[in-house]
Formats: sequence, structure tokens, C-alpha cells
Amino acid sequence: MTDQPIGAVEAGGTKFVLAVADAAGRIIDRTRIDTRTPDVTFPEMAAFFAAHGPLAGIGIASFGPIDINPASPAYGTFTTTPKPGWSGARFHDALAHLGAPLLIETDVNGAALGEWLSGAGQGCETLAYTTIGTGIGAGVLHRGAARGGISHLEAGHIRPVRDPVRDPFAGRCPYHGDCLEGLASGPAIIDRWGAPLDEAARTDPDAIPLIASYLADLAVSLVLLHMPDRLIFGGGVMKTPGLLESLRHQTELRLAGYVSHPRLDPGLATYIAAPALGDDAGITGAIALGQQASRQRGD
Ligand code: ZN
Repeated sequence: MTDQPIGAVEAGGTKFVLAVADAAGRIIDRTRIDTRTPDVTFPEMAAFFAAHGPLAGIGIASFGPIDINPASPAYGTFTTTPKPGWSGARFHDALAHLGAPLLIETDVNGAALGEWLSGAGQGCETLAYTTIGTGIGAGVLHRGAARGGISHLEAGHIRPVRDPVRDPFAGRCPYHGDCLEGLASGPAIIDRWGAPLDEAARTDPDAIPLIASYLADLAVSLVLLHMPDRLIFGGGVMKTPGLLESLRHQTELRLAGYVSHPRLDPGLATYIAAPALGDDAGITGAIALGQQASRQRGD
């Protein structure tokens, strides 16, 4: 085991959180930089790591869609992301010269890993972590390994039930219109009400129940498809007071008692949880990925 430090990246749509940790995972240094275009943000990221000398491994938890198949020639490459400039950008192009092995996961798989290791997902055999922010995504871990197939899960693009009378907003996903991300992400909330959800709720009493109704459709799908021990809902939108409670309530109504298990406690007060690591779930998972990368190299 090397005593070289570990690099970690939580790459989000608005910011990159960068950290260097010791071999045990304790953070030595961290910073955040704005997400601009790859030709600006990637060199800033590489410079931060280069200043810390040789690294044993770098773990990356990134927004997507991104190729996370280590056997793919395009491993670490952004694919169909609508974010301007990012489609085709590849983490290896920015970091390979540092000589450290890279391990890349989605942002939500990384956050799920962080919560599973040291947060609200500890002890869960199957854990679902959903983020509601600039985008919407869900990662599902089974015994610590991310569920996926030919690509990572894209649960944020499932279409929830929309009543056009209750919610005339047509959605903003460039691919699907009124999919979950098109209706309930932070930018969708701003488009619909011209304000974040907590402000919108002051003038529209249905704002929080409406967004929670869409999230509850996803929560029910996650339960029915994956039967997780727990659902964690994080991200900036979830900090809106009352949203988590409304989500629990509407999820329980939709499940209608059909799934019966002690994990699904009355009111789902423990079944649907906020991230225990708060905003550090992603970077915590990225550090764990960096440690895995280091071990895979055989140090
Ligand atoms: Zn969509």
C-alpha cells in the first residue's frame, strides 16, 4: 500500500469539488471550481492535483451521461450531455499525464457509495441514492457495487404522471420534455415559477406537493424495480423545507400498502432519508473510488 495521497473529483453541472486525501481517506486539501467548459475547467483541475505531487489513484464521481465501463475505449468520456462543450470531453485527456490510475463513476453512484460507506446507507444491502439538483439522477448499489447495464441508470428521465391542468408547464428536457428532470429539476422549477422552490411555495401552495408528487413517482419505481433497504434523496432542491416530508407521504400513498416489509416504516420516516453526509456524500464516494483505483494498480 502506497502512502501517496489520493485524488478525488466530484464533477457537477455547476461546480467541481476537488480533494486530496491521505491513504486512509482523510482530506488533506480541498477546493471548488466553477464548471465552465472543459478547456478551462480541466486544466484547473489538473493543476490542483499536480501541486500535490504523485497520486496513488484518482476517483471521479461525475455528471453525465458518461462512459463508466472500464473496458470501453471511451471510458471517462462524456457522451450525450446537453451541457455545451462537454460532449466528447474525456477525463483521461486532462489527467493521464499525472500517471495515477483513474476510476470513474456517475455522481449519484459516487454519492451512493459515500453514504453506503459512512452515511445513511450503512448496513444497507441495496441502497438507492437520488439527487434532485441541476439534474436528476439515481444510483442503486447492491452490496456496494453500482447497478447498471449497457450504461449507467438514467432514472431521472423516467416520465412521471403529469396532469396538464394542475401543471401546465410542458417540461424542459431537450430530449423528453416532461420527464422527471424536465419537470422537477432546479432549472425546471426556475422556469416554471421564476424562483427556487422555497420561494415559489410562498405564492403557490401546490408548489411543494406538485414537485413531491413527481419525486414520489420515481421513489415508487425505485422500490418496485430494486427493493432497496433505503432511499436517500439529496441535492439542492431537496433542502426545501417540507419537500422530504411531502415526498414520504405521497410515496406511502402510492405504494398503497402493496409492498410490506419492516423497512417500510409507517410514514416512511426512516425508509426515505436525507443524506447523512450532506453535501459531502459525493466527494466521500470519490475518495473511496480513488482508494479502489490505487488498490487496482496493485500498490
Ligand atoms: Zn429527459
